[in-house]
Amino acid sequence: MGMTWKETFAETPGILKKDSGDQTVVPVLDFEIGGSEFVTMAGPCSVETEFQLIATANHVRSVGARVLRGGAFKPRSSPYAFQGHGLEGLKMLARARDESGLAIVTEVMCEDDVPLVAEYADILQIGARNMENFALLEAAARSGRPILLKRGMMATIADWLRSAQLILDCGNPHVILCERGIRTFETATRNTFDVAAIALLKQISHLPVIADPSHAAGHADLVPALARIAVAAGADGLIVEVHPNPAKAWSDGEQSLNHADFDAMMASLDPYLSLRRRALRDNELLHQMNFELETMEAVG
Ligand code: PEP
Ligand code: MN
Repeated sequence: MGMTWKETFAETPGILKKDSGDQTVVPVLDFEIGGSEFVTMAGPCSVETEFQLIATANHVRSVGARVLRGGAFKPRSSPYAFQGHGLEGLKMLARARDESGLAIVTEVMCEDDVPLVAEYADILQIGARNMENFALLEAAARSGRPILLKRGMMATIADWLRSAQLILDCGNPHVILCERGIRTFETATRNTFDVAAIALLKQISHLPVIADPSHAAGHADLVPALARIAVAAGADGLIVEVHPNPAKAWSDGEQSLNHADFDAMMASLDPYLSLRRRALRDNELLHQMNFELETMEAVG
């Protein structure tokens, strides 16, 4: 007999489900992540201009997105690439929230920036490169904002869950796990999308799990297929890069969807989302039946 999942992840008991119905629901503005609604977050890799951001926000909202993404502080592979607008970018995000009604998710890169970013963001994003920056995780956790915790590109599932556990241990229960692909020997795609991690986490953990098909694929034409696979694997939502003119994007243009392609992706999710709704209903019924059986047994 091999190890059970509970034994494999014994170091992080706080992230494990206590029973089959155990599910953390993260409240954001007027909706929830991890509940029955499938939540799509979309927007540019970087906040560039107010025009770009508001146009994208209004567009993605019109086809069902709930959260606007956009980096104001950007972790870049090259020190000479655009590093983000910083505070000006945060202000543009806040204006886009006022205009569109979307919630804001944006990355915080260092401990010192947490109070500022937490003032503007509805959800704090911890980037892949910072997943094991424990000082940052603690400061972000203590801000009280929900935390979108991206998987490090070299992190095992156990490493990732240790970081999630640390946030929980700081008294912040609102952790959203985000699978964004890991580094493997494959170079055709930017990263290797670990779909098994999504299926596994949905099975063993009560935390919401979302997928980032954009950074996983690195190529816009693959993003819709990975998004559909994420729904089928049981994800609670998506974070997708969208830009009005990807060819002109200041960062990650090659993996960003234009508005028409984002619409097509959203439409293509529909049949998968109805299967998801059916599975949720069946699970709820099963859970209700088990509960009634247990109550009957307890009463005798
Ligand atoms: C991003 O979301 O633009 C980003 C930098 O993602 P990651 O940390 O997953 O590379
Ligand atoms: Mn990006």
